[in-house]
Amino acid sequence: MDCIFCKIIKNEMPSYKIYEDDIVLVMMDIDPTTDGHLLIIPKKHYVNLSDIDLDTLNHIYKIAKDMYILLKEKLNIDGLTLTQNNDYGQEVKHYHLHLVPRYKNDGIHFSKRIETSSIEEIYNKING
Ligand code: AMP
Ligand code: ZN
Repeated sequence: MDCIFCKIIKNEMPSYKIYEDDIVLVMMDIDPTTDGHLLIIPKKHYVNLSDIDLDTLNHIYKIAKDMYILLKEKLNIDGLTLTQNNDYGQEVKHYHLHLVPRYKNDGIHFSKRIETSSIEEIYNKING
């Protein structure tokens, strides 16, 4: 399988490793959104949220908490935004959790709105 993250895990490609255990690898994103942008990736190949198991997710979020503490200590970050893309908008088809450090006045607005349908219409679709 031609997966760049699997190659990184097998040390066939270089990366800036921050942490590693039997289940996950944490590395620096090669094209960081902000200083200290990390990716947590499971060592086993899962495509995304559709196929990853809950035990692995639980471990990923445990490590995310550890990394938050580390980033606060080392980089003095003001906050941390977690994102994780699935299918559309997902460039690398190997599950990865983005840890994006936030800094006061960094100008990032993840909550920027697009034009949406009425909340009631969408609510009825989800509940229908
Ligand atoms: P996504 O759009 O959620 O699939 O994000 C993929 C992320 O992987 C992007 O932020 C890329 O900058 C990052 N990325 C791609 N190739 C590498 C690599 N070789 N090492 C580290 N990060 C990478
Ligand atoms: Zn992979």
